[in-house]
Amino acid sequence: MALLNRTYLTVAFQLRQRGIASLAALSETHQMLQKTCRDFADGELKPVAAKIDKEHLYPKEQIKKMGELGLMAIEVPEEYGGTGLDSLAYSIAMEEISRGCASAGVIMSVNNSLYLGSLLKFGSKEQKEKWIPPFTTGEKVGCFALSEPGNGSDAGAASTTAKLDGDSYILNGTKTWITSALESEAGVIFATTDKNLKHKGISAILIPKPIKGLELGKNEDKLGIRGSSTAALMFDNCKVPKENVLGQPGIGFKIAMMGLDSGRIGIAGQALGIAQASLEVAVDYASKRITFGKSLLKHQMIQDKISEMALRLESARLLTWRAAWLKDNKKPYIKEAAMAKLAASETATFNSHQCIQILGGMGYVSDMPAERHYRDARITEIYEGTSEIQKLVIAGNVIKELGFN
Ligand SMILES: Cc1cc2nc3c(=O)[nH]c(=O)nc-3n(C[C@H](O)[C@H](O)[C@H](O)COP(=O)(O)OP(=O)(O)OC[C@H]3O[C@@H](n4cnc5c(N)ncnc54)[C@H](O)[C@@H]3O)c2cc1C
Repeated sequence: MALLNRTYLTVAFQLRQRGIASLAALSETHQMLQKTCRDFADGELKPVAAKIDKEHLYPKEQIKKMGELGLMAIEVPEEYGGTGLDSLAYSIAMEEISRGCASAGVIMSVNNSLYLGSLLKFGSKEQKEKWIPPFTTGEKVGCFALSEPGNGSDAGAASTTAKLDGDSYILNGTKTWITSALESEAGVIFATTDKNLKHKGISAILIPKPIKGLELGKNEDKLGIRGSSTAALMFDNCKVPKENVLGQPGIGFKIAMMGLDSGRIGIAGQALGIAQASLEVAVDYASKRITFGKSLLKHQMIQDKISEMALRLESARLLTWRAAWLKDNKKPYIKEAAMAKLAASETATFNSHQCIQILGGMGYVSDMPAERHYRDARITEIYEGTSEIQKLVIAGNVIKELGFN
């Protein structure tokens, strides 16, 4: 609980003096968290983000410090070593951290909402005690393995198998695209115990890493978020005790979908951070660049871009905070989380595109962060459900709400 031990009155006062209008609706705790994360991003992430990206460096030291700040287990109750804050806090922290480094953002997101979130919601007391506390400090991170070579969007079509053999399950098959595959020391793995039952035959199984019978694929050479590893997990007769089934057998698909619903609030936060960083880079550069005898900021066509970027950003932020607020207040939030992720990821792509345009040639080279933001933005429209899948979720819910099926 390092975060909340800080005195926050000074912080709140400073924020008011700086006139950060969008903070007005947040509680002092959320404002304090936002300020702490923003300072951390400015001081510890921004200066190294380009190197992390260029050299594919896993940001080990930064993740450890984020753990010390309570950012690796934001919604985990204090009794399990977490920070005990809410989903709104999580989305705010995700935005601020990703504003500094989107790679750190995705590692934080998978650990918080997909790995720890699944355990918190479905784990038995014993499972929570064993699998949560070591993953709250930033020393260890978890992964979440749903996707396979033959299924991504169609997550119910899993073909990795878990065969019961006495007191163990034997895992066989390949999981692809797994974030933190190389560094994680535990994972929630989705495998089918009965293919005939389709998605109702899927179970979520906890594995320690490394483990006999599991090989890791190569680290994918990606367009963006290059500081996070993405690799395949290949299971070949990997034996796991029966008690490692999360919840109960056959509810794996439900666990995956619930994990992704709340995960989307985090990815929306990540996208907001990239969009905010792009806006800041664009305005800062435009303030210094003179064309046709005046600052770029004075050209109305540039102002048009800036206003469009700010408008989309603030709209997506409100959608994201609303989805988080609904979740925190135990109200349905699936449609809203999908809307938030769709709007925020498209804003990240739009803002980073416009940022490059405002910088002209300087936007196209890696001396400036604009091109990195552009590359980082793209993944937010793909993982944890593509934009097309978000639209299916939104439309399905709207049609139901209006009484049609
Ligand atoms: C960097 C990175 C990190 C990732 N991390 C993880 C992770 O940690 N864990 C994990 O399990 N997965 C992870 N993934 C996988 C990711 O979630 C999938 O890539 C994503 O869900 C899309 O699946 P796919 O790639 O198989 O695309 P497909 O499902 O093959 O889709 C291809 C295209 O078809 C569209 N499409 C598919 N079905 C429909 C439909 N019904 N209607 C309209 N359009 C449709 C999609 O929107 C997409 O545009 C990661 C991926 C990447 C690239």
